[in-house]
Amino acid sequence: MEPFIRRGGVEEETVHAFFRRRFGEEAARILADAMVAGSSGGWPQQLEVDSFQPLLRQWEQQHGSVLAGLLRQPAVRGAPFSGPGTLADGMDSLPHALAADLGDRFHGGSPVEALEPADEGWKVHYRGAYASNTIEVDGIILALPAPACAALLAPVSDRSRAILESIPYASLSLVQIGYDARKWRASARGFGFLAPRSEKLGVLGAIWSSSLFPFRAPPQHGLATVFLAGKGGPYGDPYSDKILVERSLDAMRKVHGPGLEVELALVGRAPAAIPQATRGHRRRIDRLQHDLCSLPALALSGSYLDGISLESCVRSGQDAVVGLLDRWKSSPEAN
Ligand SMILES: Cc1cc2nc3c(=O)[nH]c(=O)nc-3n(C[C@H](O)[C@H](O)[C@H](O)COP(=O)(O)OP(=O)(O)OC[C@H]3O[C@@H](n4cnc5c(N)ncnc54)[C@H](O)[C@@H]3O)c2cc1C
Repeated sequence: MEPFIRRGGVEEETVHAFFRRRFGEEAARILADAMVAGSSGGWPQQLEVDSFQPLLRQWEQQHGSVLAGLLRQPAVRGAPFSGPGTLADGMDSLPHALAADLGDRFHGGSPVEALEPADEGWKVHYRGAYASNTIEVDGIILALPAPACAALLAPVSDRSRAILESIPYASLSLVQIGYDARKWRASARGFGFLAPRSEKLGVLGAIWSSSLFPFRAPPQHGLATVFLAGKGGPYGDPYSDKILVERSLDAMRKVHGPGLEVELALVGRAPAAIPQATRGHRRRIDRLQHDLCSLPALALSGSYLDGISLESCVRSGQDAVVGLLDRWKSSPEAN
């Protein structure tokens, strides 16, 4: 039926309302919930669709249907890998490689404590070998989570501080389960599963890490990564490691059948890790970017701006650089 539903929707429509309008109540309750919970730890009733996944609205507008848009998606060309990607030594090898490229211009252990507008740029006060260190710079890109940006911008723009502080973050917990693949009947092929909350599995979903990336486990062994709501955030869930592991195993057995013999169970926590683009998010971010124009050259980059995927974060970094360069090019001194 979806292709026959007319275009529509209200401004700042939530993911839940979008799915209900186009696919019906059941799809909104199950599909939208599984998508939102599994990828962001959030709630489809709170997130706005244009920020969560702008393609959904684009497909509706351009093709009159989400399904038609999905089917007409061109194959991605020029990507370094096709399908899901990872880095062999873990994702943190990306920032480490970038830091290594900078050589001794990278100062990792020197947290910035305050920013102060200067004649032509900023004074940056940071903690270093001496009590107070200051450098003067032409411009700044803040690639920090929203709360850390809010703290640094509070003395210079109360409106920016308020917008940044209003962005809620969800926490995630992860349980890595290693098992003997010869003893478990479940076929670990494919991606994994997302769990709508209505299924009451107690987990958000799981991926077959060793099926997607075989080097993640030794031959004949498997590795699954289970995602659960985490502790400490606004959507927090305060559970011990033991309970998180039990819940994860319980969910895996319910979904894939009995016989899972665990060889390894590791718990990880990502507190306040995923920003939640709640209703009105895009409007607030536009206002924030507008406010920053009244300050000396300063740009923002990060997952709370235009999307949480690594790809979106990299794009926001590129946008920040281009924004600063454009600003300098159009400044009176440049002409
Ligand atoms: C468990 C989990 C799994 C994920 N899986 C995927 C995935 O499979 N694919 C995908 O595309 N995306 C995934 N994401 C999302 C993606 O990883 C994040 O959205 C992205 O890494 C965020 O990048 P960022 O630069 O905005 O923030 P961060 O990577 O959090 O960088 C912010 C940096 O600021 C530093 N910082 C914080 N406070 C201060 C301060 N006061 N002073 C100085 N520095 C500070 C932090 O130490 C950190 O280095 C996942 C996220 C999580 C939590």
